[in-house]
Amino acid sequence: MRYRHPKIPGVDNNCLFCRIVAGEIPATVVYETDTTLAFRDIDPKAPVHVLVIPKEHHPDVVSLTRSDPAGAADLLAAASAVAEAEGLLIDGFRLLFNTGEYAGQEVFHVHGHVLGGGPLGPMLVPR
Ligand code: 5GP
Ligand code: ZN
Repeated sequence: MRYRHPKIPGVDNNCLFCRIVAGEIPATVVYETDTTLAFRDIDPKAPVHVLVIPKEHHPDVVSLTRSDPAGAADLLAAASAVAEAEGLLIDGFRLLFNTGEYAGQEVFHVHGHVLGGGPLGPMLVPR
């Protein structure tokens, strides 16, 4: 059987964010460490909207935290560094992990949304 995409060892070739980590799909990277990558969301929901991910594939924040607690700590440190670099520490920002169906998670490679750059409104649309 042929793969539609070139097979990269250690990477989930069907995962969009693994393919960004592998450099197969372009992204505007704003921050990078050995274990994390941060890049601008393609469809920003706020003046600043950056996605922060572990380079390793974990489907969501629960899987990451259970299988790699140090990686979860790295992800929070990266989100904090991004918030600082984007100038969000004074006026504040939101760090959001959509997890599973009810939260509307679309990409099943854990990612924190760093949102800021202006007032963000209520946390949820009122019912
Ligand atoms: P979720 O709904 O899973 O929490 O968030 C997925 C996010 O990924 C969305 O905000 C969406 O705009 C973003 N996204 C989807 N495809 C791409 C892409 O190819 N590049 C980038 N930079 N962001 C993407
Ligand atoms: Zn992945």
